[in-house]
Amino acid sequence: MSTLPLFDNPAFEIAELRKQLNHHSYRYYALDNPEITDAEYDRLMQRLRELEEKNPLLITADSPTQRVGATPLPAFTTVVHELPMLSLDNAFSDEDLLAFNQRILDRLKINDDVEYACELKLDGIAVSLLYQDGLLVRGATRGDGTNGEDITLNVRTIKSIPLRLQGDGYPAVLEVRGEIYMPKAGFDSLNDKARAIGEKLFVNPRNAAAGSLRQLDPKVTASRPLEMCAYSVGWVDGGELPETHSGILTALKNWGFLTNRETQVAKNIQDAMGFYRRIGEKRDALAYDIDGIVFKVNSRELQEKLGFISRAPRWAIAYKFPAQEESTILLDVEFQVGRTGAVTPVARLQPVFVGGVTVSNATLHNRDEINRLNLKIGDTVIVRRAGDVIPQIVQVIESKRTVDARDIVFPNECPVCGSPVETVADEAVARCSGGLVCAAQRKEAIKHFASRKAMNIEGLGDKLVEQLVDSGLVNNLADIYSVTREQLASMDRMGEKSADNIILALEKSKATSLAKFIYALGIREVGEATARNFANYFGSFEALAEADQETLQQVPDVGPVVAHFVAEFFSQESNIAAVAALRNHGIYWENINVSSPEALPLSGLTYVLTGTLETLSRDDAKAKLLALGAKVAGSVSAKTDYVVAGPGAGSKLAKAEALGLKVMDETALVELLREHGQEL
Ligand code: NAD
Repeated sequence: MSTLPLFDNPAFEIAELRKQLNHHSYRYYALDNPEITDAEYDRLMQRLRELEEKNPLLITADSPTQRVGATPLPAFTTVVHELPMLSLDNAFSDEDLLAFNQRILDRLKINDDVEYACELKLDGIAVSLLYQDGLLVRGATRGDGTNGEDITLNVRTIKSIPLRLQGDGYPAVLEVRGEIYMPKAGFDSLNDKARAIGEKLFVNPRNAAAGSLRQLDPKVTASRPLEMCAYSVGWVDGGELPETHSGILTALKNWGFLTNRETQVAKNIQDAMGFYRRIGEKRDALAYDIDGIVFKVNSRELQEKLGFISRAPRWAIAYKFPAQEESTILLDVEFQVGRTGAVTPVARLQPVFVGGVTVSNATLHNRDEINRLNLKIGDTVIVRRAGDVIPQIVQVIESKRTVDARDIVFPNECPVCGSPVETVADEAVARCSGGLVCAAQRKEAIKHFASRKAMNIEGLGDKLVEQLVDSGLVNNLADIYSVTREQLASMDRMGEKSADNIILALEKSKATSLAKFIYALGIREVGEATARNFANYFGSFEALAEADQETLQQVPDVGPVVAHFVAEFFSQESNIAAVAALRNHGIYWENINVSSPEALPLSGLTYVLTGTLETLSRDDAKAKLLALGAKVAGSVSAKTDYVVAGPGAGSKLAKAEALGLKVMDETALVELLREHGQEL
């Protein structure tokens, strides 16, 4: 969204763009508090570049296109970088990248393939670490490229930064450059903690990393989950370095730095493009945020020949990925009622293209979230969509609030059934008190019951469930087994053929498993994995229904909250009657023989999980292994049978290797789980 008026004189537009860019740079780099998205900032910058290209006489040395970052804050001691810390030129399309390659060929007057080191562009903040005789003596931010901030005490608290270099062969003076960033999991848990105590949330992992690092009290930095990845060197004296960039990365790794494991050398620009696409596909699965790929000419000799322009090297480029944050307008807030009665505010947005799709709705979680964001209808907001996570509003741009912005009124009555909405103390969620009187709750309960991982009733989709409930034919779970072929065929967009298929699917669904049936009941907090654990532990439905809370907590991964909801579910006559009605319709399953736990396929085996798993979460992997009878331990010992190691596995993997234990990767784990009937 451009905020610029129309200009007929480019000098005015240039002046306005510079004013805006300087303002946003200061908020972003100095205050760690941006008020526009990176995508918007990049668009303003692109526009300024275009205008300056067409009007070269208007370029000034202090234009944002010629400068890096922003002046450091006076609160920190200033460090003068011996060699400037530059930025990178950007590419936004294959054409930009090919043009970059062509510029290099032209400048070097060659017609050959150029080899590129391909690195992930970690989204954090650049840091310079100075080592003298192998000892860390100074840590600094990039600042404006020449003057940075002294953050030595802060960087010393980050575990992946060696205080003393390992091995040998390092130059007497070695300045290592890299990115300090916050992995996604650390960011989520930091924000979860802040949310729980009503503190301000960080907008994204980059912002969280910057805010955590530039702290006057290093104890705060120490408490934050930060990592540092080394990607180049700056000032070097008293020693030689390898001749290629990739060689330098290997040397840095040997001296004790974390370097990115995805890094590869591409033999030419086409190969480099392939790397960009491959990483683009796995971007969401990575444990940290990246905003692009950096390509660097691998030969240092060629790098030297190419040299620098004012703010960036000529031998490197950052090829950006689609933005994950954009701004748009909050048009309205609607309230949806879920299966457990939770009343969830949903933001209706002016459609915006973000994270590769057009987004017009975003979750707002609950009332606290609305208050925390200080959100009003009509506001300009920043929407973030990272991966396939539901889009979220992460910030309100209050400076853009107009006078007709309206307060969001949380309903006191359920928007579907009119029952009072209740807020339980200690719970952020407001709930409709209507229970199964509420059509919304009934519909959601039935949709869940019919879903693929529950009773898997093919064809009984959301729309059909809604019609069946609205027409009064289905009032509870058991009713769906009484619906006739004719009744089904009379529904909207249903023919006789589809009705026949659904009747068949209903019949087929009756043969189920105990775990699926427990899950299908939709007991609060009982997900698929928990249901499976219950089934394996109790073996029969009766044993589960009769268990007291203490016994329920014996089941792997079941704590007091889940135990409470399960016990409460079975204490209600209506639920017992609903289950009986379902069984009268012929739903059946085989009980599990629990008298001999050895019967489970992985009993007696102990697994340890380490590193990042990409297909399933660690909790999921653990629950599935437990369900198959395995033990899952937190640390490696001689008693461990298998270590499952994902990317980033560290000391546990090293120990496993030292002990000669069996190590498997995620693919092997997934195969094993599938082989034993676990659904993924
Ligand atoms: P940049 O982030 O586009 O690229 C340079 C930086 O990339 C380096 O300084 C380094 O920190 C980082 N980097 C990550 N991995 C790297 C690797 N493997 N090798 C080398 N460098 C690597 O440039 P910039 O000058 O830091 O800032 C521009 C970015 O900041 C843009 O994305 C822009 O949108 C954003 N920005 C946003 C606002 C705002 O208001 N939202 C304001 C200013 C800047």
